[in-house]
Amino acid sequence: MLGAIEAGGTKFVCAVGDEKGNIVERIQIPTTVPEDTIPKVIDFFKRYPLKAIGIGSFGPIDVNSESPTYGSITSTPKTGWRGFPFVQTLKAAFPVPIGFNTDVNAAALGEATFGAAKGLDSCLYITVGTGIGAGAIIQGKLLQGLSHPEMGHILVKRHEKDAYHGKCPYHNDCLEGLAAGPAIEERWGDKGVNLIDREEIWDLEGYYLAQALMQYILILSPKKIILGGGVMNQKQVFTSIYKYLPKFISDYVVLPELVDYIVSPGLEDRAGIIGSLLLAHRALEDTI
Ligand code: ADP
Ligand code: ZN
Repeated sequence: MLGAIEAGGTKFVCAVGDEKGNIVERIQIPTTVPEDTIPKVIDFFKRYPLKAIGIGSFGPIDVNSESPTYGSITSTPKTGWRGFPFVQTLKAAFPVPIGFNTDVNAAALGEATFGAAKGLDSCLYITVGTGIGAGAIIQGKLLQGLSHPEMGHILVKRHEKDAYHGKCPYHNDCLEGLAAGPAIEERWGDKGVNLIDREEIWDLEGYYLAQALMQYILILSPKKIILGGGVMNQKQVFTSIYKYLPKFISDYVVLPELVDYIVSPGLEDRAGIIGSLLLAHRALEDTI
């Protein structure tokens, strides 16, 4: 039996299951402060004989196994979670192997194993929600270097008609600052879900995302790009990306049919939690 945590800014999804993606039980716990959220996670897992745990967490997180703060959340603005020793705390309750990575890297792993990128040795998983983040599998491996990638904060060229200042507390008008859900809400004065008929909004969204995708494609050359997160429920954004990406990239790179290349998650909203089960399995395999 494996345990999995998909730790998000609003909720923790916890599940027990196996490396084939079967889920035996799954619960949701609100993300408040560690002293409140974590004991509930532990109570849930205590009912099962776990062999390993996988965590796909919101970030930034310390994934460098050589670092003294490995396994902790680093510079998040979320009260109470900055510096939280995630792996250490769980290890104290469950002395089993623990896999630890970003929520989006976990989702990329889930999609590459069972979802839209099944059978491929590379893919990119991007979430466009409260923030923008991306995880990648390249040559069969989760992309990780000095730390994990932070692809949501790249710079994009501003649309000439867009005067919105941007919402990223660190960079203002990076991609996340211009195109994540809260930026849409502040720029247009309402939640995205209430703005479905406003074509120009989703056109602009695709304009920014297509620029980002162009850069990811040029640098990483992924075989599949998967776009998830709340904002991508607006399917018009895909249409806009299909329109802008060929304009930006020109004929320089030959791409597959865009409708097959840039897609929604095959696992729908289970990519992250299934990926976290796979992180648990990998942690277990590493210790055998
Ligand atoms: P999180 O990023 O917190 O895990 P989500 O992926 O659901 O959660 O993203 C939440 C963001 O997505 C919010 O800013 C919300 O307004 C926006 N959002 C959620 N559903 C929709 C929708 N159907 N259309 C447009 N925006 C949406
Ligand atoms: Zn930023």
